[in-house]
Amino acid sequence: MEYDDSETAVELAERTREFMEAEVRPAEREALQRGQIEESVRHDLQAKAREHGIYAPQIGEEYGGMGLDFHDVLPTFEVAGRYLMGASAIRIDAPDEGNMHTLELLGTEEQKEEYLKPLVADELRSGFSMTEPQPGAGSDPKMIQTTAEKDGDEWVIDGHKWWTSNGAVADFLIVMARTDQDAHPYEGCSLILVPVETDGVEIVRDIPHMGGGLGGGGHAEITYDDVRVPEENLLGELNMGFTHAQQRLGPARLTHCMRFSGMAQRSIDIAKAYMSEREAFGSPLADKQELRYKVADAEIRLHAARSMVRHAARQIAAGNEARIEVAMSKVFTANVVNDIVDETVQMCGANGIGKDLPIAHFYEGCRSFRIVDGADEVHKRVIARNAFEDVDPTEVEHVLRFEEKGAPAQ
Ligand SMILES: Cc1cc2nc3c(=O)[nH]c(=O)nc-3n(C[C@H](O)[C@H](O)[C@H](O)COP(=O)(O)OP(=O)(O)OC[C@H]3O[C@@H](n4cnc5c(N)ncnc54)[C@H](O)[C@@H]3O)c2cc1C
Repeated sequence: MEYDDSETAVELAERTREFMEAEVRPAEREALQRGQIEESVRHDLQAKAREHGIYAPQIGEEYGGMGLDFHDVLPTFEVAGRYLMGASAIRIDAPDEGNMHTLELLGTEEQKEEYLKPLVADELRSGFSMTEPQPGAGSDPKMIQTTAEKDGDEWVIDGHKWWTSNGAVADFLIVMARTDQDAHPYEGCSLILVPVETDGVEIVRDIPHMGGGLGGGGHAEITYDDVRVPEENLLGELNMGFTHAQQRLGPARLTHCMRFSGMAQRSIDIAKAYMSEREAFGSPLADKQELRYKVADAEIRLHAARSMVRHAARQIAAGNEARIEVAMSKVFTANVVNDIVDETVQMCGANGIGKDLPIAHFYEGCRSFRIVDGADEVHKRVIARNAFEDVDPTEVEHVLRFEEKGAPAQ
């Protein structure tokens, strides 16, 4: 399928695909057989990706990336998403990728030197610590309970977070904390950089969860108890935490969509290959109309999802917040990917459940996408609020006010 991607975008995606097929697919097959992705394999793939000229394409050259425009990298996110180790091989893996973007956008030169450069080089790992247990923030970010108070030239952080991706392996965390108790809930929070080694940071546990069966950074519960960091660890502007989180989450939701679209497309490709070989009732499964239509439906919906993501990305590039477009893309893609991966499990029969193929891992991994980065319902709330802004009562008044005007003619 041709999209209106630039030459640079197409060329990078193609080179990435060659690399993924030559290097990542064989490594993935071995990892599936061993039941684990080893750190050494990840680093080995990253070294090869550097030689291949496709490492960290989304980050400025001065920080160790390739300095390409967001638009030009978008299709590459999908190519990498096709493989269990694809995104980490070229260092566009969440949550580090979103954190790199945040640091590049908001960081001071010192913060970029200390955190961004080593993060891009994969010498450091990071987490974004926002979600909290009751009575703290989950779907409703206004409920943030974690506080950061100024004491001399230090921030003192107290709070309880959970579901911080990479938390248990991270070297530093970007913590969302309330810095102004009196401000409107959306205006009194800030982002603060916290090295994990700081006294008072406790990684309580890595929360057992669905997905991530071959390894990965996990999702941690973390307490912050009288955690002191220098005042220069404030990331971005004071009390602008939510605005900054949106600057991070808008593009990050779209890159997530592309990575997950890659999962769905690979699942379709595997299912097509399986159904073309496997026979039942006198012919290959690929000849059964019922299954062919399911593949067609999947292709239609995936094309729509990709088009929506590109449209939202264009809006962001034009300087618009594109909140509605991003919300629509995120909800639509998350549901399409979940439906498609589920159908491909069915198409591959027992081998859809088995873990010789990556589909079962995709199935476990993609369910969270309907929750993470804002649950479906939370995005629909925003879309619906926008939709109800232009209610036109004249559309129905002839029906609802017929007593005043006389009943409509039968
Ligand atoms: C794999 C994974 C990785 C994550 N990584 C991170 C991370 O790195 N950093 C971080 O800070 N957080 C992370 N999270 C947390 C994630 O952002 C939250 O799970 C999400 O925002 C929802 O919050 P919650 O789980 O507290 O759900 P709750 O707020 O408890 O809501 C539960 C459910 O209620 C429904 N709901 C909520 N509001 C409404 C409404 N108004 N109307 C109807 N239904 C509604 C939704 O279906 C929602 O899923 C991660 C979560 C997962 C699963």
